[in-house]
Amino acid sequence: MKVLAVTSEVFPLVKTGGLADVCGALPAALAAEGVSVVTLVPGYPPVLAKLPDAVSILDIADLFGGPARVLRGQTGALDVVAIDAPHLYARAGDPYVGPDGVDWPDNAVRFATLGRVAATLATGALAVDAVHLHDWQAGLTAAYLRQRDEPVPGIVATVHNLAFQGLFGAHMLQTLGLSPEQFIPDGLEYHGAISFLKASLIYADRITTVSPTYADEIRTAEGGMGLDGVLRRRGLNVSGILNGIDTDIWDPEIDPSIPVRFGRGKPARRAANKVALQRRFGLAENGTALLCGVVSRMSWQKGLDLLLEVVPALRAENMQLALLGSGEPALQAAFSAAAARDPDYVGCMFGYDETIAHLIQAGSDALLVPSRFEPCGLTQLCALRYGSIPFVARVGGLADTVIDANAASLAQGVATGVQFAPVTRPALEQALRRLGALWRNVPAWRRTQRNAMAMDVSWRGPAASYARLFRALRA
Ligand code: ADP
Repeated sequence: MKVLAVTSEVFPLVKTGGLADVCGALPAALAAEGVSVVTLVPGYPPVLAKLPDAVSILDIADLFGGPARVLRGQTGALDVVAIDAPHLYARAGDPYVGPDGVDWPDNAVRFATLGRVAATLATGALAVDAVHLHDWQAGLTAAYLRQRDEPVPGIVATVHNLAFQGLFGAHMLQTLGLSPEQFIPDGLEYHGAISFLKASLIYADRITTVSPTYADEIRTAEGGMGLDGVLRRRGLNVSGILNGIDTDIWDPEIDPSIPVRFGRGKPARRAANKVALQRRFGLAENGTALLCGVVSRMSWQKGLDLLLEVVPALRAENMQLALLGSGEPALQAAFSAAAARDPDYVGCMFGYDETIAHLIQAGSDALLVPSRFEPCGLTQLCALRYGSIPFVARVGGLADTVIDANAASLAQGVATGVQFAPVTRPALEQALRRLGALWRNVPAWRRTQRNAMAMDVSWRGPAASYARLFRALRA
């Protein structure tokens, strides 16, 4: 069984968020299920730099205004195909946004290219059984495949975040090679615009998203971001498959980026990492304080503005905060100010830093994820594995991966974290008090931590679900 994964991000070649982690780890897990995956990505400079031995499998004289080559190479366990099209991708920095902070003006063409090449390879040079389209950037693959008169591979579209839809003006229709028959409400038209994501939702055989609860949420008016009707009409073709994490990269027993390694049997060894984390963030080296970590993009979705509002409540509960984030400058400034006011208790670092992310997971007592919506969330999965108690909003994949430490679950000895709902300041404050009470109840805390670390957060189960889906399509 051969699958072409189509994505704009794949760890460790290019990453802005969880999408890259998923696309980086799923192929190896699918290989164990007998599914071989080739991953197609745009040839951004860091991608090409990491594929020095790649060979050309296709030359295209004119791909949306310039020559291109399609290169195939291996990196780690990944079989990668990259589109070397300098006129579209040879740009420094972020894959989506120029140095001025504004989307690249030709993003429609840049990601239509991804879809066009995917459709060409899937039916030609690579001849796969199925294509697996990740998020809006890959969406037009489905539209291009459905233009063909010949049989095409099965199409699975996975929504990692419905908030990003790839909307572009209708005047691009001809340039992108889309047919007027496709520009209808039952096609890729979205209120007069071209929607790359909707193309995949309409033309895919199956739609998955990254948790069962998010699959429910996106079919409601409240969580559907304007596409709930489309998703409801797809009926049983929509399902949720939870993400896993790469348990080789996220393994506290062998993690090279943490001061002291520890395993399930030795959570007490985390204490040295806590001190290291406190030092790194300039916090007071206080063993009795509950050290809360955050590793997050800083955007409205992640609810960090709410967290900022409850900093005094954290302090009242003797909780410290170590935050690593990148994103909205105003939020960064506000957290910096909070840290300046109370440096013993609040520390922040801004930017993207894998090593610090690992240190936070290994040294924090609890990991806070107060998201307003969260398709799956990966940081709480890392936290479970590293014995940092996840404190999460009860939404999307956070609801599906954390067992709230309420009276029933504590009595049964099955709790793994703390959830709060709704995502409001009062509910957040109240749950923080519950977290504080759990911290002070040392046996209950230890039990919760042991349960968390025993959870299977690997890709094994999810990969088996994807493999079943691909096989069902072929049948
Ligand atoms: P999203 O994809 O919405 O950003 P996820 O929780 O699904 O959120 O995935 C985020 C991924 O990015 C995780 O692997 C997390 O560790 C990582 N991450 C987020 N922010 C940072 C940061 N500032 N530095 C390092 N890693 C980060």
